Amino acid sequence: MTQFLSLIVPLYNEEDVIGAFAAAVLPVLDSVPGVVWEIIFVDDGSRDGTLSRLLDLAAAESRFRVVELSRNFGKEAAMTAGLEAAQGEALVLIDADLQDPPELIPSMVAAWREGADVVLGRRSDRSTDSAMKRASASLFYKFNRHISNIDIPKNVGDFRLMDRTVVEALKRLPERQRFMKGLFAWLGFKTVAIDYARTPRAAGKSKFSGFKLWNFALEGFTSFSTAPLKVWTYLGTLGAVVALLYAMFIMVRTLVFGNQVPGYASIFVAVTFFGSVQLISIGVLGEYIGRIYMETKQRPVYLVRKFHNF
Ligand code: UDP
Ligand code: MG
Repeated sequence: MTQFLSLIVPLYNEEDVIGAFAAAVLPVLDSVPGVVWEIIFVDDGSRDGTLSRLLDLAAAESRFRVVELSRNFGKEAAMTAGLEAAQGEALVLIDADLQDPPELIPSMVAAWREGADVVLGRRSDRSTDSAMKRASASLFYKFNRHISNIDIPKNVGDFRLMDRTVVEALKRLPERQRFMKGLFAWLGFKTVAIDYARTPRAAGKSKFSGFKLWNFALEGFTSFSTAPLKVWTYLGTLGAVVALLYAMFIMVRTLVFGNQVPGYASIFVAVTFFGSVQLISIGVLGEYIGRIYMETKQRPVYLVRKFHNF
């Protein structure tokens, strides 16, 4: 009995690593007993030689398929494109930069055969990420756990194996803004994790810089929690109570001591402080309304320019 395994690799400007990736992954896949496999490379609108290198590879290896997107849609969309194009009974998401070691795939397949629906690659060691990236990631997971009902597993990226049933479930989630980590966690299913040490990129540069990561975190919070919307009710109530108490204090003081010249500083501070608080709360509303607006357009998550080798 053979099983069909699909590897899904999103790529954006990865011309420097494709060769190394293909060389590393081929022998691993061939070493897994009882599987036939395909690799779905999703070229996410690369501006360098990524696509032509992929097509060269695909010309020599019929099990390499290339989904060419019409432009850069981002990693989440690229992964979605790959998941929708893949035919396998089990699907593995993996980065092209060899930070997700292909050597883990045989153990993932073994765990899947033992009955797991999802096999996560969990980073036991993130020392290759910068201290800043680790600290902000840790903060993200903590905050997210508090404000949403889903529990995104810590130190787990997109590197994972999923059974076909899980992927079909994922496809039923209709949202356009696909925060995959959250969607995966929302799905549930029988999940096991395998630890691995995260190595530095084989070549090239990370595509996720400070501001992009911040927006990614915002996407996570807003996709799975409405707590940021609701907190203003409580802050507002608290502010009103404090203001009321202060008003009473002023009235009593005026009755007892007569009308004094009121403090300019306290009024100024109160006005600017509450003005800022209101702006922040409007900003939070904006984050959500902007996302509602984008969702209502019902635009496709990605567009394919061409399927190669399908
Ligand atoms: N990627 C992509 N589209 C993008 C950005 C990244 O397909 O817009 C791919 C990238 O080519 C790589 C994977 O997503 O295969 C992870 O990207 P990266 O290594 O830059 O992220 P990091 O490991 O630094 O979090
Ligand atoms: Mg990487």
